[in-house]
Amino acid sequence: MSLIDRQLDKTINKVEVAIDRLKLFEPPDGYWLAYSGGKDSCCIKRLAEMAGVKFEAHYSCTSVDHPDLVRFIKADRTVSFDIPHYTDGSPITMWNLIVKKKMPPTRLVRYCCQELKESAGKGKVTVTGVRWAESVNRAKNQGLINIHGNKKSDRLILNLDNDVSRRELEQCYRTRKTLVNPIVDWEEEDVWEFIKTENIPYCGLYGDITKNYSCTGKKRLGCIGCPVSTKSKQEFVEYPQYKKLYIKAFDRMLLQLVGADWKTGEEVFDWWVNGGNKYIDENQISFEDLA
Ligand code: SF4
Repeated sequence: MSLIDRQLDKTINKVEVAIDRLKLFEPPDGYWLAYSGGKDSCCIKRLAEMAGVKFEAHYSCTSVDHPDLVRFIKADRTVSFDIPHYTDGSPITMWNLIVKKKMPPTRLVRYCCQELKESAGKGKVTVTGVRWAESVNRAKNQGLINIHGNKKSDRLILNLDNDVSRRELEQCYRTRKTLVNPIVDWEEEDVWEFIKTENIPYCGLYGDITKNYSCTGKKRLGCIGCPVSTKSKQEFVEYPQYKKLYIKAFDRMLLQLVGADWKTGEEVFDWWVNGGNKYIDENQISFEDLA
């Protein structure tokens, strides 16, 4: 695939299509652009600039993003660095959420996404970097889920992360947000081709862009220890200080729990990374990976 998709009867320029989508759905008060610092975010931000639409790029601080990624985001003064807050004004972090929720985040219960990411941009039309090509569900069920849980139905109500059921314009049934996904049909190579062609700065954790438009470093950037990631064990080897922070949070969590089987934060951590969090719920809804 490439950004210029030559088919038998037509030629599609994916950049022009993405720009047209952004122009078509532009709200009078401008877009909220959900920026994570990842490669897809870099593309949607540049596309919004090329489209000449009104927008504000916002990064919602998770407290568990890679430090290099956070530095990359902070270096871009055009991105608003937002720290989620409780109603009393104190910051929401993964560390205090674990204590408050009295459980680690899991694949089934991703409260951190809800509190750290989804609450941002309420009432605004949000631009995301969601892409079908990132979908786990795609290969398995074409990503179609209806309200009765039957697959391959056209009664779509769920916004599954990067799923093929995602549309260029949609409403998240849970957050009630209107989402615009201008690069929903882009492949990974398209993303890197666009970044290379447009000379867009990107986070160094990705390494170099190869000739066939891939990257030599990390393929995906996300929260360290994310329950959805299959790489969390490896990440904790790379970033042992985050392992310590999780264990400390689990220790504080245990102080809130009566009758728990775990005795220490370390025991919770071992359960968490070694199987306790193994359930894979492909229907879990999240605002994660938006950009
Ligand atoms: S990406 Fe993972 S760790 Fe980060 S907020 Fe969402 S579920 Fe939690």
